[in-house]
Amino acid sequence: MIIVLKPKATPESAERLLKRISDAGLQPLHMPGSERVVLGALGDERVLAELALDGDPDVESVKPILAPYKLVSRELHAHDTIVRIGGVAIGGSSLVVIAGPCAVETPAQMRASAMAARKGGATILRAGAYKPRTSPYGFSGHGPAGLSILREVGDELGMPVVTEVMDTAEVDLVAEHADALQIGARNMHNFALLRAVGRSGKPVLLKRGLSARIEEWLLAAEYLLASGNDQVVLCERGIRTFETATRNTLDLNAIPYIKQRTHLPVIVDPSHGTGIRELVTPMALAAVACGADGIMVEVHENPAAALSDGAQSLYPAQFETLMKALAPVAQAVGRKL
Ligand code: PEP
Ligand code: MN
Repeated sequence: MIIVLKPKATPESAERLLKRISDAGLQPLHMPGSERVVLGALGDERVLAELALDGDPDVESVKPILAPYKLVSRELHAHDTIVRIGGVAIGGSSLVVIAGPCAVETPAQMRASAMAARKGGATILRAGAYKPRTSPYGFSGHGPAGLSILREVGDELGMPVVTEVMDTAEVDLVAEHADALQIGARNMHNFALLRAVGRSGKPVLLKRGLSARIEEWLLAAEYLLASGNDQVVLCERGIRTFETATRNTLDLNAIPYIKQRTHLPVIVDPSHGTGIRELVTPMALAAVACGADGIMVEVHENPAAALSDGAQSLYPAQFETLMKALAPVAQAVGRKL
């Protein structure tokens, strides 16, 4: 419920109403604006109706939040949220480019891949220390040792780092090492993990689930915001369709749809979205053209020797070419690179 107060309403009347909302067991929200104070109340619709706030002398209007995702919706929060990862802002006028290898393999591999990412113009470094793998026999990452390598290389190159966390038991450890926590596609529906990562206070990169509808994805983001964390970046990474020519089908419809309905930044991962190195650059350009706030790309110093996702990882020179091609597209849509 969105509760707009009358222009004459005092801070005391706002406080009184907020108390009525919380006393009823609902979650109160306070959104003072330049002209009007707006309050929010989240929770059981029947309790909201019983409160009859529209009869209160300080209330001008009460309207329901129609979207099932409330905190994520633009209905409640009209302005774009800017998420800060290290010193990098996501969601403003600048595009963000996150790059790095799929996984942390060795200190030398991580350093060389990170240098390639930075040389091309990426400002945030990515790599997984915990890798969700379809097969239990695949390389599943170096865990804590991988986190240390990633942190060290990020510090050496002055780049904030984002890495995946797969388990509630590892949230604290990953949060100690990373500037942002990634929730991978396979864990988008892991509600205990969403809550734990929400409570960590770290910025979050929330990937879309393999078969998740946009609404389910935004409700997963709602879990993070409902746990007290509004520093959430959504990441479209392709979905399963009947098409098998590419690893996934990159759903670029989702970008303008999400930008219109939510205030959260949204980026695109064309590496997992296509699974094919040659398709990464064209889809990265398309992502920026349709309004994405940035891209996340896998770059490996030597993709042929990568322990995971080599076929979709760019060679350093290809990443430089991508970044050069991106500049005029960014300019055309009024974004800085
Ligand atoms: C990744 O970014 O390395 C990854 C595993 O991605 P996703 O969860 O989108 O498959
Ligand atoms: Mn990968």
